[in-house]
Amino acid sequence: MSLCPQQPIPPVPDDTARVARAAFRRGNACLILRDRLGTLFTDADFADLYPRRGQPAYAPWRLALVTLMQFREGLSDQQAADAVRARIDWKYLLALDLADPGFDRSVLCEFRGRLLDNDAVSRLLARILDAAREDGLLKARGRQRTDSTHVLAAIRSLNRLELVAETLRAALNDIAVVAPNWLRLLAPPDWHERYDQRIEERRIPEVGPKRDAYVAQVGADGFRLLDALARSDAPPDAAALPAIGTLRRVWARHFERIEDRQDGSGQDGGARLRPVRGRGPGDRLESPYDTEARFRTKANTTWTGTMVHFTESCDPGAPRLVVHADTVPANVHDALRTAPIHAALAAKNLAPSEHLVDSAYVSADHLISAHTQHGIALVGPGRPDLSWQSHTEGAFTAADFTVNRDRQKARCPEGKESAGWYKDVKRPGQRARVRAQFRAADCRNCASRSRCTRTQTPNQGRVLAILPRDEHDALAAARARGRTAEGRQLYAQRQGIESTMSQAVRAFGLRQTRYRGLAKTGLQHVATAAAINLNRIAAWFGGRPIAPTRVSRFAALAA
Ligand code: SF4
Repeated sequence: MSLCPQQPIPPVPDDTARVARAAFRRGNACLILRDRLGTLFTDADFADLYPRRGQPAYAPWRLALVTLMQFREGLSDQQAADAVRARIDWKYLLALDLADPGFDRSVLCEFRGRLLDNDAVSRLLARILDAAREDGLLKARGRQRTDSTHVLAAIRSLNRLELVAETLRAALNDIAVVAPNWLRLLAPPDWHERYDQRIEERRIPEVGPKRDAYVAQVGADGFRLLDALARSDAPPDAAALPAIGTLRRVWARHFERIEDRQDGSGQDGGARLRPVRGRGPGDRLESPYDTEARFRTKANTTWTGTMVHFTESCDPGAPRLVVHADTVPANVHDALRTAPIHAALAAKNLAPSEHLVDSAYVSADHLISAHTQHGIALVGPGRPDLSWQSHTEGAFTAADFTVNRDRQKARCPEGKESAGWYKDVKRPGQRARVRAQFRAADCRNCASRSRCTRTQTPNQGRVLAILPRDEHDALAAARARGRTAEGRQLYAQRQGIESTMSQAVRAFGLRQTRYRGLAKTGLQHVATAAAINLNRIAAWFGGRPIAPTRVSRFAALAA
């Protein structure tokens, strides 16, 4: 497929315009967007994704719009291709003739593949934000807010036994495509009994010796396959399959060999499952069909998949537009995304002056780096003190100690002065923390010991963690601002992002990913963010005000 020569974008054909205006006398989002923002995309925006030679491709500006409309309405590729053929409002938006036959649904999949292969997914959102900026709907250095939600992977949850067996089955299926004769010679008949069907469809013994024997057999089968692939006569195509890499990772984590051969090589020997607390190296994979999905428990929610962080503008007198979608594996904590989100916003020239976030995104380090690197005032409560002292009535928290940084001394509520003052770094890249160490002799006989320290080491006193001065001052300033009426009023605007997340989940299908893999899931999230923006821009131009928060009829009685 090629993209030359680039055709000028045609106007909406007269017949299409006449029928569309007659059908939608009160307006329609597609008509409003086309009339107010034009085509949003041009072929030139995607020219670098296509080779110079080959059959002419379907216009990418139309495919970009169809992709966004598809996510706006939650359509499959087939339904979207049918809508291009059948819907008058889509034909108006795409400037198509009434008799236009559209395209085959596979064109949409191929277009997404080009975006992913060329790292061009962000263009779907960027052009809408550019258009919004040109129309004055998005302000530079404005106010923004961020929140996240969990996204379920498109895989079945597997227990440990199902995971290992299904991983081996997936590898066998992939080898059967690239090296069928080699596999036919290698695989004994009982492999077909064990791996022909999906593992969850088989009756696997749940407990006892039969289960142990089954697990050991699966482990031995996996090692046998890996050993055969490591030999010089193994087909290179099979050894290079991603499914074999996955098999290797899963086996290294869950199995160990039982060396029963004289030469001690362990080859063709048995295998046993590693104990749960002694699992091997590497990340915990949840399924061979999506190796980037991760398991997480957060508050009362457990899931396997990803997290998506949406950042939206919230300036008065303008629509709320999603300016960034950040997709990460589920096990990446929110605190680790504050800096990457700020860097991404700065790269788009969209860094806000004020960024409203909940406590998960805020630390003293974030407050300082957001301000010094991007001029962003991070607004949110600092993470709560999780020490046992802060949850125990009458216990001594850090706030009960007096710290003199110049003298490098701390004084406890019992009047004892610290004897040691040192710095340590818990994680690479983290700033040094100061520790003030109290004498063991002072703490051992202290009447308040049970309120102060739980150390079991008799020759160790309380160790007090002290923030660096600038971090302490930044946190203190943030907390002081949060206590003022003005600060509370500002922070109250953060909760608006929760309605955006709710809209994305309920109206745009954000909760369940359509695709497997982080990159494709990220594409879905960027396209969903762009689709939400299209809706909001159309509503803004159509004079539809932002809906107030709904209150139940019963709750309204109290008001
Ligand atoms: S336990 Fe040690 S640090 Fe704590 S109050 Fe007593 S003397 Fe002070």
